[in-house]
Amino acid sequence: MAKTVLVTGASRGIGASVATLAGRAGYTVCVNYRERADKAAEVVARIEAAGGRAAAFQADVSVEKDVVRMFEEVDARFGPVSALVNNAGVMIADKVVDMDADMLNRLWAINVTSCFLCAREAIRRMSKSHNGSGGAIVNISSIAGKKGGRGERVHYAASKGAVNTMTIGLAAEVAGEGIRVNAVLPGLVDTDLHEPFGGKERIDRIGPTIPLGRAGLPDDVGAAVVWLLSDEASFITGALLEIGGGS
Ligand code: NAP
Repeated sequence: MAKTVLVTGASRGIGASVATLAGRAGYTVCVNYRERADKAAEVVARIEAAGGRAAAFQADVSVEKDVVRMFEEVDARFGPVSALVNNAGVMIADKVVDMDADMLNRLWAINVTSCFLCAREAIRRMSKSHNGSGGAIVNISSIAGKKGGRGERVHYAASKGAVNTMTIGLAAEVAGEGIRVNAVLPGLVDTDLHEPFGGKERIDRIGPTIPLGRAGLPDDVGAAVVWLLSDEASFITGALLEIGGGS
């Protein structure tokens, strides 16, 4: 059966790794991005150069009409998705004392609402009661969602806590529809996400304090995601898999 995966926020970082490794595993890959069309095109080119099939799809996944349009564009290009990776996410600002409602609402929309909107569209295509063939969803959460952050970014941690709860609950809701829902919880991973907060300096400072002695790489997460999507994980649903080098 043709396998088509949509990876949100796949132009850079963890999403780009998931997309590239999924292409290598035989998936047709839908590379979602918000702004960086150049980076999304690079990911598509990398997948195609390795003999795979991929295309880029622009959408701000926090915006409902963008999500609906993106899934319709994917339908027209490749047919319905059989897998979804909710990866797009952001970290904004620092301490609770500096926050305001607009900032918080933007964070929830990008990190949480997007997961529900994309899951809804995927379920409408995958579920047996909609004549679908089942499928798999993986949410990219964070260890921060369990631990509350490192004494900072409590709002980011709380958004990932919501993703963890959504993963467990949705897995139960759609198990009978032939859909598995899991989450991976990365620790510190060396990506652009950290640029506004110290970038390399932050990675180099915290990395050595992690029990396995380094920050994670995008492929450390990507490999686990592609495995969770695969039939090898066919009895796993509602799981929260930590990928943090022991942190
Ligand atoms: P990143 O390098 O900053 O990449 C973020 C990606 O998300 C980019 O492709 C960006 O697209 C896309 N994006 C952001 N907002 C979007 C929106 N509204 N709609 C569509 N796409 C959007 O981040 P990353 O580190 O790979 O993070 C990926 C996920 O892993 C996030 O959910 C993050 O919370 C989670 N995570 C990361 C770490 C870490 O240490 N890096 C740890 C735990 C969890 P453009 O290129 O177009 O801007």
